[in-house]
Amino acid sequence: MNELISIVVPMYFEEEVAEECYKRLTHVMTTNKFNYELVFVNDGSTDRTLDILVELASKDENVKVINFSRNFGHQNAVTAGIDFAKGDAIVIIDADLQDPPELIPDLVAKWREGFDVVYAKRKKRKGETWFKLLTAKWFYKFLNYMSDIEIPKDTGDFRLIDRKVAAVFRKMTERNRFIRGMISWIGFKQTYIEYERDERFAGETKYPLKKMLKFASDGIIAFSTKPLRIVTWIGFYSVVLSFLVLLYSLVVKLFDLGDVQAGWTSIMVAITFFGGVQLLGLGIVGQYIARIYDESKNRPVYIVKDVYNVENDIKIESE
Ligand code: UDP
Ligand code: MG
Repeated sequence: MNELISIVVPMYFEEEVAEECYKRLTHVMTTNKFNYELVFVNDGSTDRTLDILVELASKDENVKVINFSRNFGHQNAVTAGIDFAKGDAIVIIDADLQDPPELIPDLVAKWREGFDVVYAKRKKRKGETWFKLLTAKWFYKFLNYMSDIEIPKDTGDFRLIDRKVAAVFRKMTERNRFIRGMISWIGFKQTYIEYERDERFAGETKYPLKKMLKFASDGIIAFSTKPLRIVTWIGFYSVVLSFLVLLYSLVVKLFDLGDVQAGWTSIMVAITFFGGVQLLGLGIVGQYIARIYDESKNRPVYIVKDVYNVENDIKIESE
């Protein structure tokens, strides 16, 4: 029963929580007598995060550090962590302790029962604004409505995956990564446990609305280049505007409010409506093309600058 458990922790400007995160994780892993490694990924933070991690790595050989050349984003940081992790089971957890490390033994217990993916489902979220709660709820609703695979509601990336699942995951090279969807897609025997999500231990969310919207579009049709997105929005507003113009022209016409030229109403309605619909359609098609363009460049999803406590030869290619 001495399987290796890898814990993957992405970090972006987490100097306030890094030390505490290490302590909590180490406490859980040692009291449960797990054979473990902590894979910390510094996702291009330029504060003291890396210094703290390197210091920890020099004192504790269970600590592995992967340092990116710049910020590549949460999902890519987790990807790197999974690529480097050597465990029989890999646990993905946020650095800010919103996902309680104390839950890890429960995840491991389910895994030992024979499940290949054990995700943690939030019962309640503490200390988050109603705005975040509401947007998160809509996000999952919309996501499940739009996508072909089922993505479990109220789950983050906090989960345990078996090495089999990790092996498949490493072969999935798409650039726009939506990890919870990808793991759902991989299949195998999946189950969940429920928990209450805590407040951030310290610091602020690294997912402001802007990043959340980007994340949302990644999950649905993926990301795109800016001009195409702008076209989509212009199209959308034109459609809205066309309805307003449509209403206005109809009201003026039907209630005889003005001196209306014959044919003006129908022309206005047709021009604005179809103009809008076409732009919107073009924008959406463009979004897909942008994604193809992006995939075709075939760039790596992250770039490692240096590693600590990791022998280079164990790096499993992400390609
Ligand atoms: N994170 C990252 N790169 C980023 C943004 C976030 O590695 O560009 C990490 C962050 O350090 C944290 C996790 O992803 O460990 C989740 O971020 P956060 O807690 O800010 O998101 P929230 O819980 O508010 O959704
Ligand atoms: Mg958080």
